[in-house]
This record gives sequence, structure tokens and C-alpha cells, in this order.
Amino acid sequence: MIPTEPFSCLMVRREDDEVRCKIESITVDDLPPGEVLIRVEYSSLNYKDALATRATRGIVEKLPHVPGIDCAGEVAASDAADFSPGDRVLVTGYGLGASHWGGFAQYVRVPGEWVVPLSPGLSTREAMTYGTAGFTAAQCVMAIINQGVKPDDSEIVVTGASGGVGSLAVALLAKLGYNVAAVTGKQELADELLGLGASRILGRDDVNDDSKGPLLPAKWAGAVDTVGGNTLATLLRSTKHRGCVAACGLVGGDQLPLTVYPFILRGVTLAGIDSAKCPREPRLDIWQKLSTEWKLDVLDSLAREITLEDLQKEVEAMLDGNSRGRVILRMG
Ligand code: NDP
Repeated sequence: MIPTEPFSCLMVRREDDEVRCKIESITVDDLPPGEVLIRVEYSSLNYKDALATRATRGIVEKLPHVPGIDCAGEVAASDAADFSPGDRVLVTGYGLGASHWGGFAQYVRVPGEWVVPLSPGLSTREAMTYGTAGFTAAQCVMAIINQGVKPDDSEIVVTGASGGVGSLAVALLAKLGYNVAAVTGKQELADELLGLGASRILGRDDVNDDSKGPLLPAKWAGAVDTVGGNTLATLLRSTKHRGCVAACGLVGGDQLPLTVYPFILRGVTLAGIDSAKCPREPRLDIWQKLSTEWKLDVLDSLAREITLEDLQKEVEAMLDGNSRGRVILRMG
């Protein structure tokens, strides 16, 4: 049903030359055009959302803006043939929360091709516990598998392991039988990461080598990297012959100080992961896997549930590099 009453959202505006973020009431008529109106039950907090609340250039196209790059809920109204009111669905990426108002609102309206039907194996809460972070982690895992790296090859290293993408990558790789070395700046979370399935814990310095040589001793069968910069270069220089490094993030920097030797002498693959524009077929395939054979037993324990009122302090923690696990927003 199309709501006639106003509903809540987190709005980012520029006022007096400053970017401000506050909870506002809007109506369905304020929403951008689209074929499918979704009553949002859950959204989640991702690094890109934290940047969007600060109206970061390259993330947010124009203000005012509602952030939220993912959401899960129920179709309230649909002009798209594939969806009917009452269908349980999710949306991650495309322009949601970036060029298009996003999931930090009780309703979103989006193009039909953005909408993914939720499989019966997954609740809307579970879908957002994965959210964009889990979808990205799963794509990284898929890239490593597709490159032929097997669980009985040597370790896979995961950086930013206490964060959203990192923690889900650790858990997914462990579920699939890989030995996972989890890299974290938060040694106090070591037990939690071991609980997710990591075989051992490393510090950030262990994968951040400042020496100039083109190659380092080969250690890893593969890597999921959320950090970028010298960490990504270090991982590539220390990956074994025919290994695969899936690169998805830049929390530590956007440069890549590297030579071509890891590629031409060790046949290392650098797999770039872009979840926002992932084509529909692999997108549906990954969500199907996350709902069935890849579904994590630890999913419930991974999420901390908050409301819009709590969001600002979580955003600050995330921008300070102090996030842990997944933060999901209950909207409905
Ligand atoms: P989080 O903030 O949840 O996690 C990031 C983690 O990185 C932190 O918890 C911390 O983990 C570590 N970290 C933070 N700052 C630094 C630093 N300066 N140097 C080294 N490590 C650091 O973010 P997400 O998991 O949501 O996202 C991670 C990255 O992946 C971001 O860059 C994000 O933009 C990107 N991303 C990319 C996507 C894509 O499609 N390519 C989709 C989703 C995310 P610890 O303390 O354990 O080391």
C-alpha cells in the first residue's frame, strides 16, 4: 500500500555552508521516480554511507540527499512486471544512496532492475546483516574460487578483518574450508575473529612492508583486501604463484606502489571488485548462495541493531577506523 502519511529518513543538507545531517519527515511524493516502492524494514551501515553523511564528493551527487546504499523490505507498490505488493526484496548498490535517495528512510522507490527477490532462506534482517558488505565479501570469495585457489592451498589473508566486509569475508572463507589469517588493528577482537573461523590473527604491520624490492617471500594463496595502498601492494608482492588477491577497498589509501613482477613472474591475479554495478546474473547467483550453501550460522551474532537516532555516533566510529562487525538499521 502506498503510504499517505509522512515517514522518517536521514537527510543530508547544506545549511549555512556546512553539511548537516538530521532526521526529517518526507512523503512518497518527495521520493525519486522508480517502478518499485519498497517499505524498508532494514538497512545497514557501510563505509560509503559514512562518507555520504559527510556529502563526500564522488559519492553523493547532489544535496539534499538520503544516504543508505542497501535496504531490504516489502514491496508496497510496483509498476514492474516482476514484482507485486507483499514481495520480500532487497537492493544493494546501483545508485542507491549515491545518485538516488537511499535506504536510510522508511520507504525507497527504485528502478525495477535494481530489485533482487529475497529467497525464502533469508529474512530481511539477515539480508542486511550481509548487506553490501556481505555481498562484496562474497564477490571477493567468488573471485578467489574462480581463479582456482583451493581450500588446501595455503592461507588466505583478509585485511580490515574487524570491519563489515572483512568480518564477513573471514566467516565465508572459513565456512568454505579455507585457512584464514585475519589482519586487524584491534588485537582485543582476536577472540571474536577466531570465533568467526580465522585460523590466526595478524597485526596491520604484518602486511605493510616498506622495503623497495619488487617481490617478497611468497606466503598467501589469496587475499581479500579492504585497505588498499601499501597494504595491497604488500599482499600482491607476497602472494604465491597463481594466487589471487581480491581488492575491494581503500580505507588505508588509494595508491598502489607496485611493479609488474608479481603478475609476470608469479602469475598473480589482481581481481577488482565493484559491487555497485555487479551485473544481474552474478548478483542473483551470489544472493542465492548467501541464502543457501554459503549461509553463515553466525549471521545473527554478527549484527548490532540500531535506529536512525543512533546513527551519527556509529558513523563517527566508522570514519575513525573503529567499526566492528555489522551495524544494521531497523527502519520498520
Ligand atoms: P568498515 O569501516 O566496516 O571496516 C574497515 C576496517 O578496515 C576497519 O574496521 C579496520 O579494521 C580497517 N581499517 C580502518 N582504517 C584503516 C587503516 N587506516 N589502515 C588499515 N586498516 C584500516 O568498512 P567496510 O567493511 O564497510 O568497507 C571496507 C572498505 O571496502 C572500504 O574502503 C569501502 O569503501 C570498501 N567497499 C568497497 C565495495 C566495492 O564494491 N568495491 C563495497 C563495500 C565496501 P581492523 O581494525 O580490523 O584492521
